[in-house]
Amino acid sequence: MDRCLLLRFGEIYLKGKNRNFFEKLLENNIKNAISAYNCEFSRIPGRYVVSGYNLASEPALIALLTKQAGLFSLSPAVCFDTDLDNLKDMATKLMEDEEGTFKVETNRADKTFSLNSMQISAMLGGEILKANKSLKVDVVHPEHILNVDVRENKKTYMFLKTYPCVGGMPVGSAGRGLLLLSGGIDSPVAGYMMAKRGAKIYALHFHSFPYTSELARRKVEELAEKIAAYNAGELEVFMCPMTHYQEEINKNCKSDYNITLLRRAMFTIAERLCKDKGFKMIITGESLGQVASQTIESMSVVGEVVKDTQIMRPLVGFDKQDTIELSRKIDCYDISIRPYEDCCTVFVPKNPIIKPRLENVKREEAKLDFNVLVDEAYSKIESVVIKAR
Ligand code: ATP
Ligand code: MG
Repeated sequence: MDRCLLLRFGEIYLKGKNRNFFEKLLENNIKNAISAYNCEFSRIPGRYVVSGYNLASEPALIALLTKQAGLFSLSPAVCFDTDLDNLKDMATKLMEDEEGTFKVETNRADKTFSLNSMQISAMLGGEILKANKSLKVDVVHPEHILNVDVRENKKTYMFLKTYPCVGGMPVGSAGRGLLLLSGGIDSPVAGYMMAKRGAKIYALHFHSFPYTSELARRKVEELAEKIAAYNAGELEVFMCPMTHYQEEINKNCKSDYNITLLRRAMFTIAERLCKDKGFKMIITGESLGQVASQTIESMSVVGEVVKDTQIMRPLVGFDKQDTIELSRKIDCYDISIRPYEDCCTVFVPKNPIIKPRLENVKREEAKLDFNVLVDEAYSKIESVVIKAR
């Protein structure tokens, strides 16, 4: 008997001819994610198996693997050669300390085995009842379900617990994207959602040091550590200073336009970075109507600077509460709500313009040396690779 983790694919199943490409990618992502642990990885028809690890590291492996986009679920299982005696022994052993109600559920992928799945479940149910008088069968609402997976490789996997994974598609299967990462609640969730759909994420953070603090930067790095776990183990973060640009807007332009002008520069820089690095999309945490900068008019006037890169706004139809739930799920919420300032909250106007018109925005922008300031900010970008924690 071996202890192992039995992994199931998600949507890859829907893929036709190029399924192999997706499986290979997922396989590599998994191997990278668990490379720090001494364990074996194998592929059997319809499943992956991780085995040979020290039992003490099982919870850590589960935590890492449940975050792998492309996996649907996983179960810590015992694995043994498929044979009637082994099935009976293992079933009674796994259930020996349980009490209450149970049922046995069998999946027989190996159609050559002498009993079908119903017969296996019935037989094992009977054996368990004989061996453990504290258990009763309840097929409708059982407290315990003993799962029996009889695979084509002549091995059977038996388990009581299944953990859902993130689902989606393997990271890297849908191109590379640049996440505009603030320290807020929304953008980390947006990054998670796109990583889950197979985009390999890179992040761009704008700061206004020294108006924004070292602590604000640290907060972004901690968020990046969390996102990295869903992004094949790492996240490269580009840090771009907007201090000088913001000072210039503040000095020269009508204050109502501060945020609009700042965001136009942010998106200009983002597209330039995408072109330089070969990223195919800009990802933001915007949601329609959430704040003045997220009305359709604001998004249009800001998005207008981006000429040939897709802008992805995965949260566009989300209510804040929907986003908060996901933020908690990915363990970012407590970090996101720390009260440090963001560059968008430095020099906030009293009355930000809610429905900006392009010609008015361009008139304000013309008061700045836009290209020179953008070049200056771009040339000062620093990057740091953050590993999952
Ligand atoms: P978040 O919670 O993600 O900060 P928000 O609700 O505060 O979003 P805004 O401040 O209007 O909304 O920002 C909208 C989007 O613009 C963010 O989701 C993020 O993608 C991007 N953004 C905002 N501030 C920054 C920043 N300092 N650096 C990088 N991107 C930013
Ligand atoms: Mg914000």
